[in-house]
Amino acid sequence: MRNRLSSNQYANGILAGDRLLLSRAITLIESRRSDDQALAQEVLANVVAQTASSRSESSIRVGITGVPGVGKSTFIEALGKHLTELGHRLAVLAVDPTSQRSGGSLLGDKTRMETLSMNPDAYIRPSPAGDALGGVAQRTRETILLCEAAGFDIILVETVGVGQSETVVHGMVDFFLLLMLAGAGDELQGMKRGIMELADALTITKADDDNIAHARRAQVDYQNALHLFPPTGTGWFPPVLTCSALTGDGIAAIWQTILEYQQLTTANGYRKQRRQEQQLTWFRSLIQHELNARFYAQAGMRERLETIETKVKAGTLLPVPAVQALLDSSL
Ligand code: GDP
Repeated sequence: MRNRLSSNQYANGILAGDRLLLSRAITLIESRRSDDQALAQEVLANVVAQTASSRSESSIRVGITGVPGVGKSTFIEALGKHLTELGHRLAVLAVDPTSQRSGGSLLGDKTRMETLSMNPDAYIRPSPAGDALGGVAQRTRETILLCEAAGFDIILVETVGVGQSETVVHGMVDFFLLLMLAGAGDELQGMKRGIMELADALTITKADDDNIAHARRAQVDYQNALHLFPPTGTGWFPPVLTCSALTGDGIAAIWQTILEYQQLTTANGYRKQRRQEQQLTWFRSLIQHELNARFYAQAGMRERLETIETKVKAGTLLPVPAVQALLDSSL
């Protein structure tokens, strides 16, 4: 069995940028063992109390989404190369709901981002598996804090464009980037209007060779579609860009756009407000989660539920008094 380190050893190592300790601390966060969980919370509290919160303050958190095949991992390779060349250190995290549902994965299984994973200024961590989306979100939020503490000043959180995960990732980043294919109808891309409304920018991928003209047309179409959306109240109008991760065209412009957004929303206070709201939402959803878990974990709860549910099913007890009775006798 490996040595158990103290939370101080973890925290000091992470703050000094020790990747191995960072990885081990994230493993603690993802562990289901209660002693690991307790240690993980100590490590988090420790780094936040030291310099981590100021490191978080200056970081840029970017969410990236799009349907499978749109080119997310190739794009992240290209953007990651650009960012590390600019002197940034970036962490790439993933929220992959498919790995929970099917045991398979749309993001994590194949070897991805091979070049970036060799880059000493990049840190790539796949999605934690085997948990509900809420659990994954919780762990990813904590992982973001640890990565920032370890000196990664840019955090990319990737997710597949299926289901609820976009909303969840939107709730933990400063900037949300939606990647789209040219020529594929909205329906084909599973694009709901709601997801487009979440985006701070859209990017048409694979704008190279024969696809350039298609990409430009799609750019105009989507820009027109976005004009019909109500203004966001931030003073920011989500632009539609094009890029090719293969040629590198447009990659620098996307980063420039993110920086402009960052400058605007820092100046007008929206960035801070968005982060504060995200903290509160996290806190409130944790309360709900904890209350729920504690309620069901009470001694004898299963038996009591069975008895009451039999009566509810039979119609001899109505749901409202049933819930009242359960809550009054517990908590
Ligand atoms: P993901 O499933 O969204 O992560 O997509 P991938 O990054 O795995 O890319 C899916 C396919 O599109 C791969 O075959 C890539 O080689 C290809 N692809 C990705 N980016 C580009 C690009 O900029 N131009 C072209 N022509 N192909 C690309």
